[in-house]
Amino acid sequence: MGNIPRQKNLAQTAPGQEGQQWGDHSDLVILGSGSTAFAAAVRATELGKSVVMTEDRTLGGTCLNRGCVPSKNLIGAAQLVYDSSHPRYPGLQSAPMTFNMPELIEQKDELIRTYRQQHYASLLARDGMPGPRVVYGHATLVDPHTIEVRASDGSLHHLRGEQILIATGSSPFLPDITGLAETPYLTSDLLSSRERCL
Ligand SMILES: Cc1cc2nc3c(=O)[nH]c(=O)nc-3n(C[C@H](O)[C@H](O)[C@H](O)COP(=O)(O)OP(=O)(O)OC[C@H]3O[C@@H](n4cnc5c(N)ncnc54)[C@H](O)[C@@H]3O)c2cc1C
Repeated sequence: MGNIPRQKNLAQTAPGQEGQQWGDHSDLVILGSGSTAFAAAVRATELGKSVVMTEDRTLGGTCLNRGCVPSKNLIGAAQLVYDSSHPRYPGLQSAPMTFNMPELIEQKDELIRTYRQQHYASLLARDGMPGPRVVYGHATLVDPHTIEVRASDGSLHHLRGEQILIATGSSPFLPDITGLAETPYLTSDLLSSRERCL
C-alpha cells in the first residue's frame, strides 16, 4: 500500500479503556484482537511501529474467550468426573464425583480473566510504555487505509493506517436445517466467559 500523509495525533485514553486512541493515524490498523491480531501487533510493536487493534466483542478473541482455553479447562474437569465413574485400572472402585456447575463455570471465567490480563491486556500501551492500542466497536473497512469503528454508544470513529490487517476470525455457521429456528441449539459460543473489554 502506498504512503499516506500523517494526520495530527488526536489520541485520548478513556477511563477503563487503556490504549484507546481516537481519530489517529498508525502504521498498522488491525480489525480484530484475537491471537492473529496480537501476533501481528506484538511483532509490529517490536519493529517500532504504531499499532491499533479494533474489537467488537472481547479482547483476546475466540481462543481465549470461547475456544481453546475454556474448552480445554472444562474438558479437563469433565474427564475427572468421567474417570471417577469409570476407573481405568482393575482394582479401583468407581466413586462417582458430584460437581457444582456454576462453580465450575466461575473458575473457568476467572481463569480466562486472569489469562486475558496476563497475556493480552498487559501487552497494551499504557503509562507511557509503547504497545498496541485497542479501539472497541464494530470495525468496517472504508478504503485501503481507513477503518470506521462504530462504538456501542453508536458513535463513529475513523482510524487511518499505513497498513491494514483483517484478522476478524470466524463465527459459528448455522446450517439451513428445517425446524432449527424453532429448536433450542448450542454453538461454540456456549463457552463464552462473562465477556468484558478488559
Ligand atoms: C470451541 C473451540 C475450541 C478451540 N480449540 C482450539 C485448540 O485447542 N487449539 C487451537 O489451535 N485452536 C482452537 N480453536 C480455534 C482457535 O480459537 C482459532 O483458530 C483462533 O481463535 C483464530 O484466531 P483469530 O485471531 O484468527 O480469530 P479470533 O480469535 O476469532 O479473533 C477475531 C476477533 O475479531 C473480532 N471481530 C470480528 N469482526 C470484527 C469487526 N468487524 N470489528 C471488530 N472486531 C471484529 C471478533 O470479535 C474476535 O474477537 C478452537 C475454537 C473453538 C471455537
